[in-house]
Amino acid sequence: SKRPGPQATSTPPRKKARLSGPAPAPAVSSIQEQRRLLPIAKGREALVAEIRANEVTVLLGETGSGKTTQVPQYLLEAGLAGAAGLIGITQPRRVAALSLAARVALEQGAPVGGTVGYAVRFDERCGAGTRIKYMTDGMLGRELLGDPLLSRYKVVVVDEAHERTLRTDLLLANLKRILRVRNGESGDNRNPLKVVIMSATLDAEKFSRFFSNAKIVYVKGRQHPVKIFHAVQGQTDYVDAALRTFFQIHVDQPPGDVLVFLPGQEDIESLDAAIMLFARQLPAGAPEVLVVPMFAALAGEKMGRIFGATPRGARKCILATNIAETSITIPGVRYVIDTGKAKEKRFLAGAVGGGFDTLLTRDIARANAMQRAGRAGREGPGFCYRLYTEDAFRAMAPAAEPEILRTGLAGSMLQLLCLGQDLQELELMDAPDVEAVSSALRTLFLLGALDSTRALTEMGRAMAAFPLEPPLARALLASKELGCTAEVLDIVSVLAASAPLFIDAGEQRGASVEARRKFVHPAGDHLTLLNAVHAYAAVGGGGADAKETEEKEEGVGRSARKEWARAHFVNERVLREARSIRAQLVGVCAREGLDARASVGDDADPMLLALAHGLAQNAALLMPDGTYKQVMGQAIVKIHPSSTMADKKVPAIIYNELVYTNQIYARGVSSIPKSFFASLGAFNRRAA
Ligand code: ADP
Ligand code: MG
Repeated sequence: SKRPGPQATSTPPRKKARLSGPAPAPAVSSIQEQRRLLPIAKGREALVAEIRANEVTVLLGETGSGKTTQVPQYLLEAGLAGAAGLIGITQPRRVAALSLAARVALEQGAPVGGTVGYAVRFDERCGAGTRIKYMTDGMLGRELLGDPLLSRYKVVVVDEAHERTLRTDLLLANLKRILRVRNGESGDNRNPLKVVIMSATLDAEKFSRFFSNAKIVYVKGRQHPVKIFHAVQGQTDYVDAALRTFFQIHVDQPPGDVLVFLPGQEDIESLDAAIMLFARQLPAGAPEVLVVPMFAALAGEKMGRIFGATPRGARKCILATNIAETSITIPGVRYVIDTGKAKEKRFLAGAVGGGFDTLLTRDIARANAMQRAGRAGREGPGFCYRLYTEDAFRAMAPAAEPEILRTGLAGSMLQLLCLGQDLQELELMDAPDVEAVSSALRTLFLLGALDSTRALTEMGRAMAAFPLEPPLARALLASKELGCTAEVLDIVSVLAASAPLFIDAGEQRGASVEARRKFVHPAGDHLTLLNAVHAYAAVGGGGADAKETEEKEEGVGRSARKEWARAHFVNERVLREARSIRAQLVGVCAREGLDARASVGDDADPMLLALAHGLAQNAALLMPDGTYKQVMGQAIVKIHPSSTMADKKVPAIIYNELVYTNQIYARGVSSIPKSFFASLGAFNRRAA
């Protein structure tokens, strides 16, 4: 009774093993065949009819049933997007939006940016003919700034709504408002909007209630069964347990790739090293092991290795954070190893002064565990090894706590204010914590984005134009008067990238500090980082027009830069990401009247002062005992050992962030003259 998996019907055997790069495109007929075999295909007509009949539809279907890839195509093919309207599908994660656009474009037989496109922060590929747009929930949120009714969209599909990211929640609230205007009695009804909420693991009732008892539709049938094994005993060291489990699979089980879920990059790197070490000791003739890390900071080109075909006779082992948990299909994966852990951002409002974000490793929720297991049954029957007991699984929270209840709100609040909305008045599924709201208001006030009547200022509006967190946007805007926009752009672009620039190589810390010594700037980490950016640009004949250079010299310059980055323990991926972020920010600068070429050369003070404008809330003064005390809050902080300022006792510092382990550490630290405090508006505002 089991349907043959898509693999059974797919391509002829490959002639040459490929180590990386995209998988060879299967013939179109086989892709269409795969589409027809998906569980959702059987209910296609009924599903389209329901969505046509209802303003809001909540669609619940097991992972792999075909929701994410098929629903937008069904709606387009059924004419629900009208003659030229858009269907937007939001994803909580950027990697999902990118890979889904690629897959669905293939199914449509068109290049990405044709009928099917994508939009994520700092990267967009859509054309005049784009009808289906995969995007992050944050990107659609930003589009509200220019088009408050999302009038170009006929259908908005909110996918993976169970994740309840802050941005998803804000989007849902806005969709509710838009429905009232575009579809309501008073609306003119010429451009009605349809909303589809999708997930595999969702409290459907709650979403339905939120949208005035919206219709709930179920898609039956998982594509392939996944057999789940639980640990007999709890594990204390999940990296070690994952290592052992991987080799048990590798030695005993039939071919098939392995996907391991770990909390973060550090664990991924240590497991990577451990697997490679043991793989070398395997008996001759054992299948080769190919380890592929996967975390948010990974650049686009590295994705090829994740999604590409596994060479014949080898076993791929993908080490991923929860970014691989939802939405995406990684071809070839048959085995999932789940550590049951994830890193979670949590905002400690008021706990210490202004409040700060922490990133802590925590147990996942049952909904996450189910999603993780689901990744094994995408193409055929699969297996999931949970490194925790069945009791532990039952003891997990049913679903993760909505992000709005645990995260910093300043950035979102600023965006809402630009829409003329008030976070506290918005109709949300769950209202945020009062303390988090007042902490965000305080931040925006201190940055000058709000005046004392809580009204949005010109500065606030300008800040919101930049796709940056408010402190970084404020620093960039401060660079205008100070004439150092070129330098602040360099710094801010690196800080906005998804990983740290400097690789903090555990055992090799000594070597990495030594290798980077020549970049060290006496004023601290920000200018040290700037020195590294400049040094990188100068490698291999690169220069100011780095973008052009990059395209021209594929070979020599490229490998020279790679080698340079390796030798200096600098994350080249981050530099490349920062370069693309910078290019986007330059565009916004032009619109906001900032001269992106304005430079102060080596003059440190203007740059530091610009940064201090953004980081005013993150300033601290030296205490007699060598620790630092926050200027705006009560916390006593130490400088993180990774900082170039770690053992310097300077009178005053600014820092990027606080991290909380056994004590509170400031990370990304620069020394500033105490005289700055007089000229920083934030301090006067505080006094006022
Ligand atoms: P759902 O959203 O219901 O979890 P999807 O629409 O994402 O399901 O995927 C349905 C099926 O389509 C997958 O189980 C897989 O067989 C196939 N598929 C999706 N994306 C890809 C891809 N990038 N490569 C190969 N197959 C894919
Ligand atoms: Mg999906």
